[in-house]
Amino acid sequence: MKLVVLGSGTSVPHPQRASAAFWLDTAAGSMLLDCSADAAHRMAEESLDWPSLDAVWISHLHLDHCGGLASLLFGLKWAPQTQSRRKPLKIFGCEGIKKLLRAIDDSNDYGLLEQPFPIELHEISAGKALFEMLSGLQAQTLSTPHTRESLAILLTDSDEASVVYSSDTGYSEELAWFAREVSLLILECSFWRNKPTSKHLELEDAMRIARLAEPRRLLLTHLYPEWEGVHLEGKAKELWSGTTIEACDGLRLEI
Ligand SMILES: [Zn+2]
Ligand SMILES: [Zn+2]
Repeated sequence: MKLVVLGSGTSVPHPQRASAAFWLDTAAGSMLLDCSADAAHRMAEESLDWPSLDAVWISHLHLDHCGGLASLLFGLKWAPQTQSRRKPLKIFGCEGIKKLLRAIDDSNDYGLLEQPFPIELHEISAGKALFEMLSGLQAQTLSTPHTRESLAILLTDSDEASVVYSSDTGYSEELAWFAREVSLLILECSFWRNKPTSKHLELEDAMRIARLAEPRRLLLTHLYPEWEGVHLEGKAKELWSGTTIEACDGLRLEI
């Protein structure tokens, strides 16, 4: 698998960090992990093959994670590059994703689900679910202590490479076991210290999860501006001896 970080930031507008979105190339096809309002243009900026995008995953309904889905569909519907496309786009999202899309769609008769190609929209219930995201790409979900519908996802492809994307979460040992020994753990680390809420992680929490999960590599993302001027990887090393990488927009990783 290959990962491209499209957005390592949060809901707070930032000159170098777009809101949450990741591009993942797998043996089974390409997918987006979350689709912030910045995602569509970031895909183009990174010269990714967005007209052939195979799947989208939406972790929860906060707009810094799903606010770009409707505009992505609007863009795909009218882009010259997709008019001859016939293969489906699969969208898997948390509970409420259908209601959200329907509400936007009905507000102006956009016809977002009527594309030159089929859209397959699947809602994944809170809790544990097992499904095939793309042929040969297995997905498993876990509820996280963030919002009622929020889900972490584990993806495993035919090469046995595995990725967990926590999206937004509070501290959870269950999440650590869920991510046990994965090839890459993409973990939120909203704050350095003194976090103002239990619904996100600060460095100490993230590294406690890393010590339990022992991923081959840890990618810390969803970085609030509080991180500015802090040497994240150095601070992480003091708490876990494994490999921690600070996400930045445009970062590319082989998994
Ligand atoms: Zn967020
Ligand atoms: Zn959130």
